[in-house]
Amino acid sequence: MKALDISGLTKTYKGGTQALKGIDLHVNEGDFFALLGPNGAGKSTTIGVISSLVNKSSGTVNVFGHSVDDDLVAAKSCIGLVPQEFNFNQFETLHQIVVNQAGYYGVPRNIAKKRAEKYLKQLDLWEKRNEPARELSGGMKRRLMIARALMHEPKMLILDEPTAGVDIEIRRSMWTFLKEINQQGITIILTTHYLEEAEMLCRNIAIIDKGIIVENTSMKALLSKL
Ligand code: ADP
Ligand code: ADP
Repeated sequence: MKALDISGLTKTYKGGTQALKGIDLHVNEGDFFALLGPNGAGKSTTIGVISSLVNKSSGTVNVFGHSVDDDLVAAKSCIGLVPQEFNFNQFETLHQIVVNQAGYYGVPRNIAKKRAEKYLKQLDLWEKRNEPARELSGGMKRRLMIARALMHEPKMLILDEPTAGVDIEIRRSMWTFLKEINQQGITIILTTHYLEEAEMLCRNIAIIDKGIIVENTSMKALLSKL
């Protein structure tokens, strides 16, 4: 079974922009996969459709065998999403944000608290747990969104430009963390416009431009061509 199976996916926004013009993407379970492309290429739209924040125009999307059309709850429970914008309540504490997230997925509170401790510690946020999220630096806010996305222990983590605006030291520590959780079996898909980031992390890569996948190959094969 594929972690992600996308066929013939199109998205035309209401204004008429054709953000996706019929893309196919297949990601194996356990993969570390990059979707690389310039601004406006369709990366966020693709992620939006996979995580059902954006309605597709046509095509099929299956997440671990669950169709987003017929089996949305099951598909969503497989995904931990780290969006580009900070979309948590800035006035809640870090601990509240991650524990409440687990609650939305029906994780019992005692288990949620244990996971909160585990992930906040792993992401070097435990000391800040009782502070409101607005006090955090940009890099910490990114890490908070990663911790939050892991609270229901999804099979797949999807990150939209996770290191945008993050300084190099924090970026490296985020890379190390993502590699570790991938080694533990979580499938990871990230979007980026840095080839360097994809090169550091990913086994397979698709390059998207103007709503079309122009390359879909292993990182090794791509690098040997450059
Ligand atoms: P959907 O078809 O998924 O419901 P919409 O076409 O309704 O999405 O767009 C959602 C909102 O985003 C609209 O209010 C739209 O005006 C706004 N929007 C328009 N252009 C852009 C853009 N380039 N980037 C982000 N949002 C945009
Ligand atoms: P990327 O993530 O690669 O920067 P996006 O998926 O955000 O690309 O955008 C792809 C195209 O769709 C762009 O032309 C963008 O302006 C447009 N777009 C994105 N979101 C919306 C929206 N909500 N409404 C209308 N157009 C949008």
